[in-house]
Amino acid sequence: MSESEQGQRHQDRMARKKALVDESIKRADRDQGLLLVLSGNGKGKSSSAFGMVARALGHGMKVGVAQFIKGCNDTGEEAFFRKQPGVTWHVLGEGFTWETQNLARDTETAQRGWAVVKTMLVDESIDLLVLDELTYPIKYGWLAIDTVLADLKARPAMQHVVVTGRAAPAGLIEAADTVTELRDLKHAFRAGVRAQPGIDL
Ligand code: ATP
Ligand code: MG
Repeated sequence: MSESEQGQRHQDRMARKKALVDESIKRADRDQGLLLVLSGNGKGKSSSAFGMVARALGHGMKVGVAQFIKGCNDTGEEAFFRKQPGVTWHVLGEGFTWETQNLARDTETAQRGWAVVKTMLVDESIDLLVLDELTYPIKYGWLAIDTVLADLKARPAMQHVVVTGRAAPAGLIEAADTVTELRDLKHAFRAGVRAQPGIDL
């Protein structure tokens, strides 16, 4: 094949691709509040959610954050975003599981936390709500999945919700609009590197 034939072929292929992309962009013409789930064992779930918080704030939107598991009390995102006007930040999961080893207390803590989330799920002024590590209280049975799904469904039509955490329950995946599974191919921790500020916390 001559060079000019190759060039023509490439141009034709790109033109066909552009027509397909243009068509699918035209088809996506609705706006709605989205439910996103970021799950899987790979790194990047919470940090991706906080990336969306930055995006939303850049658009002048109001953001709520609820953290259900606290492994670390001094993450960079909390220090940074708590200072931003337009952000409401709740830490709801103090002393869960292996810390307390007390099912009744964990259930009570999670339910009290969900009551706080509910106040944001009925608040029309909150444009984006991050429910960080919500999958764990569901997985351990401290929160009923049916309650969580019903409250998510009843939220304002334009409110976006991002849920993070490993082992997302099937019902949550089904209810969500956008679901991403982050896959763990490699993590520096296993090579003996402790959590690094700015990267891991
Ligand atoms: P990040 O907050 O960095 O986006 P994450 O939300 O995907 O991580 P979590 O399961 O919430 O992951 O774990 C939080 C902490 O554990 C972070 O410090 C993160 O870097 C680290 N981590 C995440 N995935 C792994 C992994 N596969 N192996 C070891 N450490 C991990
Ligand atoms: Mg996380």
